[in-house]
Amino acid sequence: MTTTAVHPAERLERARQATAAAGLDALLISPGADLRYLTGYDALPLERLTCLVLPAEGEAFLVVPELERPAALASPAGGLGIGITGWTETEDPYALVAARLPARPACVGVDNHMWAEKTMAFRAALPGTRQALAGTVLSALRRRKSAAEVGALRRAGAAIDRVHARMGEWLRPGRTEREAGRDIADAIVAEGHVRTDFVVVGSGPNSASPHHDLSDRVMRPGDTVVVDIGGTTEDGYCSDSTRNYVLGEAPADYLRLHEVLLAAQRRQTDAVRPGITSGELDAIGRDFIDEAGFGPYFIHRTGHGIGVESHEEPYIVTGSELVLEPGMAFSIEPGIYLPGRFGARIEDIVICTEDGGERLNLTPRDLTVLP
Ligand code: ZN
Ligand code: ZN
Repeated sequence: MTTTAVHPAERLERARQATAAAGLDALLISPGADLRYLTGYDALPLERLTCLVLPAEGEAFLVVPELERPAALASPAGGLGIGITGWTETEDPYALVAARLPARPACVGVDNHMWAEKTMAFRAALPGTRQALAGTVLSALRRRKSAAEVGALRRAGAAIDRVHARMGEWLRPGRTEREAGRDIADAIVAEGHVRTDFVVVGSGPNSASPHHDLSDRVMRPGDTVVVDIGGTTEDGYCSDSTRNYVLGEAPADYLRLHEVLLAAQRRQTDAVRPGITSGELDAIGRDFIDEAGFGPYFIHRTGHGIGVESHEEPYIVTGSELVLEPGMAFSIEPGIYLPGRFGARIEDIVICTEDGGERLNLTPRDLTVLP
């Protein structure tokens, strides 16, 4: 039931209006985040064509391989009141879509992540029709979350917080990052996700590599450990949070690094409000870290949007003039990495509200000392 609130039929209608306003004749949406966003259908990306067709004028319909039709009907898409047409092995699904489009379209928006072979098959089936990116229409819708979507992200945030709160069960000297990572992945599912999207356990010098995932390095007393974890909940919305742990006593200069990072991240989360630009928000943390002498070691953007994908618009990045609006959801995750030594990153998902920001991750951001 949460699913219908999160994926309301009115979302299709808003997308249809935006398609018309953009001058496109239809959107062609293949399995992936856009299809999940529009219908709630988490379809398998197969060589056989599954495609939501959303004409600017007329009724939306879903074309699926006949053998996938029961799954499509059982998904939230089955409750949206749209036609779900199965195609059999001897039919050409591209010709079927072309024949059902209202008139010879001048321009269609294809899913940003549609496989090239499908995009080109549509090009052949619709000669003379230009193709544009469906993202030009959908990203503006997807980046402003509804109250139901914010609720789903809040539940995802609470679920990943419960995993961070249990970290002492898994991070211990003598265990490898990979052993800890396996347990953490299981806990991500046990604490309220349907799948684990990523687990980063960067211990000791590995904590200085922002996208390190897991290795066979054995954790040792005095190690600093970056743990960055996320999953997808039953509603289809994602979590993503990073905290820093130390096994025993932290190196003295690490404590200062973490303090600077904590203050930078707090300044940034406190500054979230409608009207500030993404670039200004990035600079608030970057300038502070720079003044503390760590500027060259903050080597990535401040954050990324999150929703039905763990990385989506809006990106919080140097120079961006994108103005934050209520309903936008994104990470604030500055990091400082001293190559070969150690590093840290602190990450919360934050919602831009009518008058400020709401953090969705509430576990302590201070360095957590584990025995
Ligand atoms: Zn993360
Ligand atoms: Zn992130």
